[in-house]
Amino acid sequence: MKEIAPDVWQVGGGFPPNGINLYVIGDVLVDAATRHGGRRIFREIKGREINAHALTHAHPDHQGASHEVCERLGIPYWVPERDADAAENPKLIGERQPDHPIAQFFARTMTGPGHPVDRKLRGGDAVAGFEVIDVPGHSAGHVAYWRESDGVLILGDVLNNIDVLTGIPGLREPKSFLTPDPAENRRSAKSLGPLEPKVVLFGHGAPLRDTRKFVDFVSGLED
Ligand SMILES: [Zn+2]
Repeated sequence: MKEIAPDVWQVGGGFPPNGINLYVIGDVLVDAATRHGGRRIFREIKGREINAHALTHAHPDHQGASHEVCERLGIPYWVPERDADAAENPKLIGERQPDHPIAQFFARTMTGPGHPVDRKLRGGDAVAGFEVIDVPGHSAGHVAYWRESDGVLILGDVLNNIDVLTGIPGLREPKSFLTPDPAENRRSAKSLGPLEPKVVLFGHGAPLRDTRKFVDFVSGLED
């Protein structure tokens, strides 16, 4: 694992690098890749104390290994309130995705088992020194995690810093065919500009330490 900011670690070992990201903040694992990601996760977090598992959103490439992680570590599952039903009953994940062949293919091949949710996260909640921010659109309950003291923003899939199909790096909105409500997601992205984050951590793509680039990108999105 690589320390990105104090007590914020990017879990490595994925291929391609930065393709599907997860993070450890304090003693909390944020996201859990696809259902094939368990071995990578356990290899990377070996020797670390993890006391809870939280999601940015309940999509197949973020909740895939969540059940395995919570079971094996015996830790609670913290999920954004309006994604909690899908985290427990993953049939809803595919149903809520756009009716597009790629979205449905990802849902079939990556979605992990459901797992009981122990804590429903709401905007304003605290998780390992971060504040939960509601940023719905890419999923019904999508949240980001924000640490104002040093400007670290864990953004999930509100924006991607890589093209998830071609692997070409660069800041962009998530694919519309993987996003149930692109207009709402765009409003959520724009709402984050005033934070002026110093480090942005994505579900897909490398960390971004260029505040201006982030702020200009979101303020340039049309209403
Ligand atoms: Zn994703």
